[in-house]
Amino acid sequence: MTTASQTTASSTQTEQRFDDRVAIVTGAGNGLGRNHALQLAARGARVVVNDFGGGRDGAGASTAAAQAVVDEIVAAGGQAIADGANVCDPDAVQAMAQRALDTWGRIDILINNAGILRDKSFAKMSADDFNAVVDVHLLGAANCARAVWPTMRAQEYGRILMTSSTSGVFGNFGQANYGAAKTALIGLMNVLHLEGLRYGIKVNALLPTAATRMTAELFDADSLRALDPSFVTPAALFLVGEAAPSRTALLAGAGTYARLAVVETEGVYLPPDQRTPEQIAAHFDEIASLDKILETPEGFAHVSRILTRAKQAEGRA
Ligand code: NAD
Repeated sequence: MTTASQTTASSTQTEQRFDDRVAIVTGAGNGLGRNHALQLAARGARVVVNDFGGGRDGAGASTAAAQAVVDEIVAAGGQAIADGANVCDPDAVQAMAQRALDTWGRIDILINNAGILRDKSFAKMSADDFNAVVDVHLLGAANCARAVWPTMRAQEYGRILMTSSTSGVFGNFGQANYGAAKTALIGLMNVLHLEGLRYGIKVNALLPTAATRMTAELFDADSLRALDPSFVTPAALFLVGEAAPSRTALLAGAGTYARLAVVETEGVYLPPDQRTPEQIAAHFDEIASLDKILETPEGFAHVSRILTRAKQAEGRA
């Protein structure tokens, strides 16, 4: 049943539009990226649909998947171009950004979405399996961000979205490579957020759960229906919209939208003679307790907090 307040909330909202905005969506030939690209275009954005069309493990290359999405956008009256850059290739990524500039004169939005899997238990994971996954997810995202950064700074406007994953921030068996790369993107978000702030560049992260070729074998038919990628895309569009927050990581899937928070516990201050492993063990429950948690806006804020606490405890404040 729809309540009165729900009706009021939805009827007073204006549609979020992307008219005159130029977006690059990587890995947009399939799955989530395809959905993001279609929805951005439907709301007025001009979209570079990037996909090198490889297999789920990163093998092979073709622009056919990206071109099919472009055809769909154009048939619906939108504007899009296909690009086959491998996000691991910095020169190809620079060329992709240049194509966007040559075609439309600006780049407002980058959605780093391209991804591959090479799941194996760590005991069986070769260095190549590890590096290939880090290369696409982490270095690929950094390559793309680097390619659009000068333009976004000069425009004093930009939105960058990292696609992270619960596989890393919470952990999933058999995904050491993927989990490490996906969690590194939270670090990249944190730092680019700080560096982009004064230029109007907002940097966020999405932790999706969706039925795509990446997850097809993990779920039963009922769960796959509940996990339609179209339920994730609204969170992505919110995070790259005009009114986007910054340094915000949203979990999205099956109709649930939540925020991932990285917090520190208040912890304990130990005087010099108690700074031993035995005292850490003795205080561990208090150190680990979530009763008092803090969300720290940047690394130096943590450093400042512990130094202030030490000064106060030692009577130097
Ligand atoms: P998908 O396999 O359907 O789509 C990924 C796309 O990225 C493919 O079209 C592929 O060709 C493209 N791609 C791969 N490597 C590339 C490269 N080097 N350069 C350019 N394109 C490349 O998978 P998906 O589920 O839609 O995943 C999209 C993103 O969401 C990925 O980053 C994935 O890790 C992340 N993710 C997905 C889920 C989920 O539940 N589906 C969960 C967490 C995170």
